[in-house]
Amino acid sequence: MESLQSAWFSPTGSKLRRMFYLVTPNETSFQYPEDVPEYEKEASPVFMTFVLVEAFVSLLFGHGKVRISDGLTSISAGILSRIPLIFLRSGFLNMYQWIYNNYHIVKLEWNSPYTWILTLLVVDFSYYWFHRLAHETSILWSAHQVHHSSEDYNFSTATRQSILQVYSGWAFYTPMALFVPISIYMVHEQLNLLYQFWIHTEYIRSLGPLEHILNTPSHHRVHHGRNPYCIDKNYGGSLIIWDKLFGTFQAEKEEVIFGLVSPINTFEPFTVQVCYWKHLWENWRQGRSLLNVLLRGPGWVPGQDPNECHIPEVEHPARKYTTEVSNLCSIYVLLHFTAVTYFFLTILSVNHLMPQESVLAVLVFIIYSLSCFGNIFDQRSYATYMEILRCGSALCISQLANFQLLSEFYNEMIVKMIPWFYGISALLWILSLVFGGSKQQLKHQKTA
Ligand SMILES: [Zn+2]
Ligand SMILES: [Zn+2]
Repeated sequence: MESLQSAWFSPTGSKLRRMFYLVTPNETSFQYPEDVPEYEKEASPVFMTFVLVEAFVSLLFGHGKVRISDGLTSISAGILSRIPLIFLRSGFLNMYQWIYNNYHIVKLEWNSPYTWILTLLVVDFSYYWFHRLAHETSILWSAHQVHHSSEDYNFSTATRQSILQVYSGWAFYTPMALFVPISIYMVHEQLNLLYQFWIHTEYIRSLGPLEHILNTPSHHRVHHGRNPYCIDKNYGGSLIIWDKLFGTFQAEKEEVIFGLVSPINTFEPFTVQVCYWKHLWENWRQGRSLLNVLLRGPGWVPGQDPNECHIPEVEHPARKYTTEVSNLCSIYVLLHFTAVTYFFLTILSVNHLMPQESVLAVLVFIIYSLSCFGNIFDQRSYATYMEILRCGSALCISQLANFQLLSEFYNEMIVKMIPWFYGISALLWILSLVFGGSKQQLKHQKTA
């Protein structure tokens, strides 16, 4: 019993409990914002473990619920969405603090359980409205559609986030600065986000009576569905009560087919991020008013009643976007993606100690790498040349004198392996180009 209790409160136990909001006000209330732990950052290894375990189970039993191409595109979007926060994280929090210091209406006790519970509810309520408007206005949908663009539904889908979403959400939380201390807001904003990770799975079917109150994998599957009965339903974050209260709740019925009503058919992470802007631009070019283009819903057609918006029926089984990339090539990309993720996680934890130009150089390399991986999966004709350039550049940079400065922050053995890793990779691509010819054709084959 005692060992169970010590495991429950151990650092690993606490990290795991936070994913499910299983924490007490006592252990997660802080007086000052600088004392609030970075739960999101601490959760990265837990995210990775969940993703790997689910992928392993899917592979072992041949369920096909996790695809390397789609999963890596999702995690790429997650990495891209974190990059601006390295430089701009404190902007919104500074504004929140300033409003609270100068304009708060009531001063809630930071260490009261009532403040803690009230904040949990208000953060979730604000998230509901932010999320609802993110679906019902095109300007916010342009960012949020990234999260819905995966045609799979697994833990990696949870990481598929927009670069821009963080800049649109703050307005919905700002009114809280009139009464909630910033430290308690920071705790719940993070816990709410962590909770939303584990509900992205097909492996948990029903949670029994908890389905009445909590947002669950079943409810969130409906939210990610493109079946007509799933559209604009279940916006909740950690609770489902707001949907029931405001008429947007829908229980899971027939098999849900995931993704966008108009699939984007790409694994390239930048196209995933910006494709909807192209659509809005085209709408505007057709002579529609800019306000209508930005503020109406994604299904808006001039002169048509929004309630009569036609959502096409889905096909069973689902036809997903896929390309003919060999298993060997997928493993190659997986290896290189692991290296890039390692570089990124190191930057996240030590960027404040590194020279800013080194941080920038590594970030440029990471961003370019993610685009290369997407183009390989999309089988673009120029992907081979992009990859030769990427591996060749990494090899050259690792030979520069000031690279040693960067290497202080990375594992010594890994740093020694870098020239070999990228040198051999570049050579393999050159050989495939010389002996295989430019076989890589643009293939956009959809199969069942
Ligand atoms: Zn959504
Ligand atoms: Zn989701």
